[in-house]
Amino acid sequence: MSQPEVQMGPNFIRNIIDEDLASGKHQTVITRFPPEPNGYLHIGHAKSICLNFGLASYYRGRCHLRFDDTNPVKEEQEYIDAIKEDVRWLGFEWDEYEFHASDYFETLYAYAEKLVEKDQAFVCDLTPDEMREYRGTLTEPGKQSPFRGRSVEENLDLLRRMRAGEFADGSRVLRAKIDMASPNLNLRDPIIYRILRATHPRTGDAWCIYPMYDFAHGQSDSIEEITHSLCTLEFQDHRPLYDWFCEALEIYHPQQIEFARLNLTYTVMSKRRLLELVNEKHVSGWDDPRMPTLSGMRRRGFPAAAIRTFCERIGVGKSDSVIDMTVLEDCVREELDQSAPRAMGVLRPLKVTITNYPEGASEEFTAPCHPKNPEMGCRTIPFSREIYVDRDDFMEDPPKKFFRLGPDREVRLRYGYIIHCDEIIRDPASGEVTELRCSYDPETGGGKLPEGRKKVKGIIHWVSAAHALPVKVRLYDRLLSVADPAGEKQRDDRELLNPDSLEQIDKALVEPGLATAEPGDAFQFERLGYFVVDAADSEPGRPVFNRVVTLRDTWAKVAEN
Ligand code: ATP
Ligand code: MG
Repeated sequence: MSQPEVQMGPNFIRNIIDEDLASGKHQTVITRFPPEPNGYLHIGHAKSICLNFGLASYYRGRCHLRFDDTNPVKEEQEYIDAIKEDVRWLGFEWDEYEFHASDYFETLYAYAEKLVEKDQAFVCDLTPDEMREYRGTLTEPGKQSPFRGRSVEENLDLLRRMRAGEFADGSRVLRAKIDMASPNLNLRDPIIYRILRATHPRTGDAWCIYPMYDFAHGQSDSIEEITHSLCTLEFQDHRPLYDWFCEALEIYHPQQIEFARLNLTYTVMSKRRLLELVNEKHVSGWDDPRMPTLSGMRRRGFPAAAIRTFCERIGVGKSDSVIDMTVLEDCVREELDQSAPRAMGVLRPLKVTITNYPEGASEEFTAPCHPKNPEMGCRTIPFSREIYVDRDDFMEDPPKKFFRLGPDREVRLRYGYIIHCDEIIRDPASGEVTELRCSYDPETGGGKLPEGRKKVKGIIHWVSAAHALPVKVRLYDRLLSVADPAGEKQRDDRELLNPDSLEQIDKALVEPGLATAEPGDAFQFERLGYFVVDAADSEPGRPVFNRVVTLRDTWAKVAEN
């Protein structure tokens, strides 16, 4: 399998695998990533993907992509397709090892009959309410179902008739016969098959009974000869059941190992909750750039390599924690700092007229596409008598340390001239500043500083009015306004949504060269952050930009140049 260069540092799972290989328990490593196709993948899944595919690649084994498609009511082909696209985008390839739990429906059913024949499963007619009542609680043992004593023959007959469609949905279930007094509720005669008339995306109407997750999952692992079945901590209490099924069925027994799931600040990480946000239109879709989904992050401009680095950096452990979103954003910055060409853009334009520059004239400055990577070449930046700068770079009454434009102050235009602010023009009605009238020093073009001339501290970005390309820009902030939504039990996600998570700027101005940028191309707009051409809403020659992430301490850095 061709996989990206995966950094796989030491972790407790690697220790287990090392021991298994050393002892001869296993000769090779086979892992799997087992999504349920009931939603799009999120960054939490990326942790599992990087771990499973990463281990397989590290040990030169393989990783299967398996769809855990046992609940046809919630599962859709759209999700299956999106999951594959996202895993590939992250950089992983499963070759021919693509499977579906539904591929095994016939085998799983045979397993069910086998349990019945061994008198380790029975058909139960209790209603769901009765079943709940009989189940007991964490402190009280459960009671045995009155149907538990059915003979093997009767159970087999009923199970076959369940399959044949003789009974109504929900009227009967097949249950494992384990222990109603077990302190582990998962072992109190869990349901393994239910009657459900629903069309399955792959098996259509062939089945009206479907295996429960716990029965399908471990057995699918076994059929595929998975060596190490990695899942998140909440399945720890299911492990005895996982083991019980393999023992009872006398089939190959993979080892389940649990690790801590990923939680990130200011967002939710559950497909059910994300689906609510989509359905209720709080976001534009699963790929809304504010979503913690992989499709959302891709559209937002997060490079796949940054997500892989993040998953490596957070490591794999056994205790739950919430990772700060800034850890992920730092990985994104590091990646884009290397790869993104530089450009200039002005988000909130303020007109500047260079009064001593000839009318109708223009010239071009040359600037590197990337200051640290000369191989990326150079670009030309047109300059003329009217330019735009960002409103934030002008203050009428600036404090001393504001090294940008103000009355009677000087500033360097990035790659261009030093200009001096001579006059402020206002809107007569509102008093708002509408234009600055400045003069330029003709000796300072292209960043030059003549001998003896006083250096200016501030450098600001700008675009030429006559040449700039008007574009839409979207600025994103956290999806939720609280860091740890799990800690806000009484309030639901809707109340926690950050009302300022999206700001759209309809007329920003960027360097004309960006007209040819393609969807997915990312740039650093100097001093403003990283921006990517939106893949959904851009048109040829009319890019729409999403801000991927801001720069850190940008002002301090640029001011030194
Ligand atoms: P969700 O709770 O978001 O609906 P899930 O666990 O139901 O997720 P699955 O499709 O069953 O989603 O998950 C596929 C794999 O991804 C499982 O092995 C699961 O343990 C893993 N996984 C899901 N969420 C996370 C997470 N936040 N961190 C790490 N692994 C995760
Ligand atoms: Mg699940």
